[in-house]
Amino acid sequence: MELPFAESYKIKMVEPIRKSTREERERWIKKANYNLFNLKSNQVFIDLLTDSGTGAMSDRQWASMMLGDESYAGASSYYNLKQAIKNILGFDYFLPTHQGRAAENVLFSALVSEGNVVPGNTHFDTTKGHIEFRKASAIDCTIDEAFDTTVLHPFKGNIDLNKLEAVYLKYPKEQIPCTIVTVTCNSSGGQPVSMENLREVYELSKKYGIRVIFDSARFAENAYFIKTREEGYADKTIKDIVAEMYTYADGMTMSSKKDAIVNMGGFIALREEELFKKAAQFNIIYEGYITYGGMSGRDMNALAQGLDEGTEFDYLETRIKQVAYLGQKLKEFGVPVQEPFGGHAIFVDAKRFLPHLPVEQYVAQTLAIELYKEAGVRGVEIGTLLADRDPVTRENRYPKLELLRLAIPRRVYTNNHMDVIAVALKNVYDRREEIKMGYQIVNEAPILRHFTVELAPCEEAMSC
Ligand SMILES: *Cc1c(COP(=O)(O)O)cnc(C)c1O
Repeated sequence: MELPFAESYKIKMVEPIRKSTREERERWIKKANYNLFNLKSNQVFIDLLTDSGTGAMSDRQWASMMLGDESYAGASSYYNLKQAIKNILGFDYFLPTHQGRAAENVLFSALVSEGNVVPGNTHFDTTKGHIEFRKASAIDCTIDEAFDTTVLHPFKGNIDLNKLEAVYLKYPKEQIPCTIVTVTCNSSGGQPVSMENLREVYELSKKYGIRVIFDSARFAENAYFIKTREEGYADKTIKDIVAEMYTYADGMTMSSKKDAIVNMGGFIALREEELFKKAAQFNIIYEGYITYGGMSGRDMNALAQGLDEGTEFDYLETRIKQVAYLGQKLKEFGVPVQEPFGGHAIFVDAKRFLPHLPVEQYVAQTLAIELYKEAGVRGVEIGTLLADRDPVTRENRYPKLELLRLAIPRRVYTNNHMDVIAVALKNVYDRREEIKMGYQIVNEAPILRHFTVELAPCEEAMSC
């Protein structure tokens, strides 16, 4: 008999989590105005709000923290991290920042100006925010297959080269400071980019004299998908694949809270000395001196160790198989999920789950609330609430997809937790016809409303 799969680590420290009753949860979610961001973490049994900064550090990472050097300038922790970035990603220049969006802020301050265009696969919302804040625009050149949940394409994060070249032909190169490739592509469901596509994007960009930057939060998960899905890479190590990926980039921004398995941190890495010097000035203004940026020495040490562990195959296999385990269970229960499964999360298709609810009643949010009430599992709506209103008409923007995202923290939960999540969703699915109404907004902020929005069930509200 073939041996079953098991995690590539054992547990040395545990943190208790609290089960609650349905009655308690109904009270708490009402008090939270039906916004899951307003729940206290101890009101949540299994927290799938995000995989960002929620991972469990290893014994080696904690040990490296004790060796952190808190010198203001030239700390050994800085040099440890510099060496790890050189060894694993191949860049000579780097700047530490406090998280991913800070890296974007610093780099784009040096790079992006009014009227610029920045093409790429679907830009992450903070990336897009930092581009648009500078009165520049982000142009989405992702392949069309990415937007069809029924198409099984192995690399839905790929850039359409024709769309990209059209941008290069339309705008003068002075107006295009860089192309950004997000690996894996978060906004299209954690979908990877193939090595072939990375290579072709780089070659095309060099032909037009355009710089390529990787938005790298989940670069290691991307490398895992290259190894397991792309021809010619099965026998290569993750570190070899990562090294090749970055030969097709001129620089990168990183949210270390994802694939580097730390709770806070980020960085910029570059090949060009000139651009590094320019960005360093902004780093000093916004983040801190260039040898610590927004990070303490112990955190840089843990990050250096995390980069090494995060690019080990055994760890990645454990992680990505756990995400797929949950996806497969849900599929077996008939729950509609997006395929192929992404690297960091499972996306439940709420419109197919609750087809009788109108989109005006926030279908994915309704499902998120039902799942919380069922088992204390906290997911997040990726739908109309997140999409905000049109800035001009102030009408709701209804995205094509209403998704409930279940993001899996790294090395935190066991497959028993995955079983609880799957059965909880199955129970909601089995009684889906009893969910007759959704929610309406009582209070909202003008932008990024999903964090603070207040909702009420439709039967209690005035005009659903
Ligand atoms: C999380 C993320 C960011 C922003 O990073 P923070 O650390 O949350 O500031 C940028 N890009 C991508 C692709 C991300 O997933």
